[in-house]
Amino acid sequence: MPKDVSKEKSINKAKTTFELVVCAVIIGTSVFLGKSCFDKVKVVPSTNQQASTIEEIEIPDASDVLDPNKIVFTPTPINTRMKFSGNLVLVNNDYEYFSTGEEKLVSIMEKNDEAGRKSFIAVDYDYTILEPAYEPLAKMVDDWYGIYGNDTLIVYGSHRTKEFQQQLYDQFTANTSDDGEAPIVARPGFSEHETGLAIDFSETVNYDYQGDGDFQWLNNNCHKYGFVIRYAEDKEAITEYRKEPWHFRYVGIPHAKYMTENNICLEEYIELLRNSYNYSGDHLKIEDEYGAAYEIYFYPSDDGSEVTNVPVPSGVRYDISGNNVDGFIVTVHVDEKTEIGKENPALTTSPYSYTSTTTSEESETTSGESTETTSTETTETTVAE
Ligand SMILES: [Zn+2]
Repeated sequence: MPKDVSKEKSINKAKTTFELVVCAVIIGTSVFLGKSCFDKVKVVPSTNQQASTIEEIEIPDASDVLDPNKIVFTPTPINTRMKFSGNLVLVNNDYEYFSTGEEKLVSIMEKNDEAGRKSFIAVDYDYTILEPAYEPLAKMVDDWYGIYGNDTLIVYGSHRTKEFQQQLYDQFTANTSDDGEAPIVARPGFSEHETGLAIDFSETVNYDYQGDGDFQWLNNNCHKYGFVIRYAEDKEAITEYRKEPWHFRYVGIPHAKYMTENNICLEEYIELLRNSYNYSGDHLKIEDEYGAAYEIYFYPSDDGSEVTNVPVPSGVRYDISGNNVDGFIVTVHVDEKTEIGKENPALTTSPYSYTSTTTSEESETTSGESTETTSTETTETTVAE
């Protein structure tokens, strides 16, 4: 009997000791987390653009202190000329495309052959598109083909050099009287096809793609793969193009989703981001079909300088694209988790996609290294430019 009592006592004692240790650990962790969060606030760089953000977070409330998901932004030097590159460049009658001559283009037919893909063809092996647009295109057409089994889809227009656009334009101006029916041929330098991000579909029966019948699915669902129908009938006044149901433009999934759901064309989207979703104000928050979450903002280019210090998140993947007008659009992949069974084409690698190699905790003690790492990435991109 006494033996049991003493055993019980020692168990109780052990329990109390254990509870004390647990308490100490909890207090210690809270102090550490609190401290590291306040430290983070100190390293947020101070530029005029960020002044309002700093004021907001200088006195964090309790939820901020313990929120490990809070994104920390750090200015990163980006070659200002990069504003002319990326999946969100606006190319139209007002904004010329400046080719670097070093865009990474892939042959659609070669890629199709490599994958044994039978769902669509291109006119010839020299029909190319920008590499990051190929997989989303292929996935979209494969899904469509899986439903309809229609083997008449053909890519009839894709990347064009400025020289080729010149030939098309000369033919157009020599032979065509504007009857209000024929598609407009853009001046050389001003065609979206020069970006490598646009394709024209046709079909091999009548060579007349109107986005109807079996093809309607492509026009209705392309935004789920990052494409928009660039020239819609109700946007003619803005785009200055008559409707082209065959002309698809790759912009990336969250952007395509937002533009489609809100019925805005690229001109309107670029303006909306500039006016309403500047870095220092609200960011545009989007969740895609697959359950992944994004945060999007605009940052103006410093046109008087070779380099623009664009604030980008630490420890989170992000894409950066120029808008070809006056700045950069940063797309933060806040949460890349996708719903089970859904393969998210947005997760394919993009040449404009980066992840800062340091976590936000590391960046507060080694911010010098962090900047160095990022500028290496920038230099690489600059070479590609
Ligand atoms: Zn086209």
